[in-house]
Amino acid sequence: MNVQRNFIGGAWVEGSGALRNVNPSDISDVVDEFSLATPAQVAEAIAAARAALPVWGAMTLQARSEALDAVGTAILTRREALGRLLSREEGKPLPDGIGEVTRAGQLFKFYAGEVLRLAGERLPSIRAGVEVEVMPEPVGVIGLITPWNYPSSVPANKIAPAIAYGNAVVLKPSELVPASAVALFEIMEQAGLPAGLVNLVIGGAEVGEALATSPEINGISFTGSTVTGRKVAAHAVANGARVQLELGGKNPLVVLDDAPFDVAVECAVNGAFYQTGQRCTASSRLIVTEGVHDRFVEAVAERVRSLKVGHALEAGTQVGPVIDERQLAKDMSYVDIARGEGARLVAGGERLNRDTEGFYLSPALFADTHRDMRINREEVFGPVASVIRVKDYEEALEVANDTTYGLSAGICTTTMKYAHHFRRHVKAGMTMLNLPTAGVDYHVPFGGTKASGYGPKEQGRVARDFFTQTKTSYLLED
Ligand code: NAD
Repeated sequence: MNVQRNFIGGAWVEGSGALRNVNPSDISDVVDEFSLATPAQVAEAIAAARAALPVWGAMTLQARSEALDAVGTAILTRREALGRLLSREEGKPLPDGIGEVTRAGQLFKFYAGEVLRLAGERLPSIRAGVEVEVMPEPVGVIGLITPWNYPSSVPANKIAPAIAYGNAVVLKPSELVPASAVALFEIMEQAGLPAGLVNLVIGGAEVGEALATSPEINGISFTGSTVTGRKVAAHAVANGARVQLELGGKNPLVVLDDAPFDVAVECAVNGAFYQTGQRCTASSRLIVTEGVHDRFVEAVAERVRSLKVGHALEAGTQVGPVIDERQLAKDMSYVDIARGEGARLVAGGERLNRDTEGFYLSPALFADTHRDMRINREEVFGPVASVIRVKDYEEALEVANDTTYGLSAGICTTTMKYAHHFRRHVKAGMTMLNLPTAGVDYHVPFGGTKASGYGPKEQGRVARDFFTQTKTSYLLED
């Protein structure tokens, strides 16, 4: 097997040690083998990125835009194969794998356009005869650290704006899904980017730490758990690097008595269990008013029991496996914790056997839970959701906000008054009306508040807030 999987200074290089990437739908299927980047190679990658900055900066905007566009086109052209690879290594059903890769292609195309739209402003000074110009400039070398649940779109969501706004990057993807990152770099290698502009280092926490603790980095954009993100931020701040964190969630979906019933059930099932609940925006807390509660729980439970759990590449699979043994053990431990707290298990929560050996878990729905239970306070990050019964809208909003997290929040109702009030008063970075808490557009800001995010938001035009710094120039007119 070829294990030269680190991409540094425009060349594929071998690291040390071996990392095996296993298909969670079928653990007998080894997706690929990789070698881990050494700390010295992380430093080399950062130096290569630094050296590429002036080369990239000297290229015309047209050439830069075309390079990003070419990456987007190549991804979209190969989306079937890339989606299959992604589903094989991450375990989301094939249509979702292809959907994610498509999004990655669209992100590159969006930022290909943004290359041409980066503008500053010129304005009069308060002093006579003086003009002021305010211009965005690249930040420099940015370290990117990404999680396993979006192996293609999260790296794309960071790399595309970073280079569009003139920076160079070093990406460390999750050690559980390096194959999709390698495939993305193989595409970028062909797109006319200067050597060293984009670098890939494979590995786990040690490689991430080597990146985060480097004094040569100007910024870190991190997506992952809140605990790790805060460690990374502390290192970056100590070195004077800027930080952007996209973190975990415990997202509420409020269902009121007057909700469009079928829409609400679909929002709950999709938001809580699709992609195995392994979405930062998953609806893990279903907050339901008492008039509709029993009927809603019954309808969601019926749908949940009918979901087809299986191999990610098998046609008709609706819920794939959990990512690995460790996450499966964590999910199952929360099933036990919830039971121990007195929650009523209405559906699922059991390890399943399929034709191939994988990490299959039947989606678990709990009812009769209380907002203070651990199942309602801690992120599980699996196909586990719980229902909290509330009296009315006011109590629903209070429970929705009673969490340290604040990523996405949804409400299902037909009353405008509640829809508007919720949008204004729920403490979350994103709100949804009669839509699942998960599933967002690629051209608008994405991110959370409270323990779900830190620093400027990602995505859309606001991505420039993190990936550029402002220079103010004063000019004395003749
Ligand atoms: P994680 O925090 O365990 O790992 C994230 C990345 O950090 C990985 O690449 C990992 O190797 C690296 N890492 C681990 N320890 C490190 C250290 N000490 N220093 C530097 N890097 C280190 O998260 P995960 O399990 O990969 O992903 C799941 C988490 O990601 C969930 O909490 C989920 O909510 C969150 N997530 C958030 C978003 C968002 O946009 N808000 C999107 C996807 C996932």
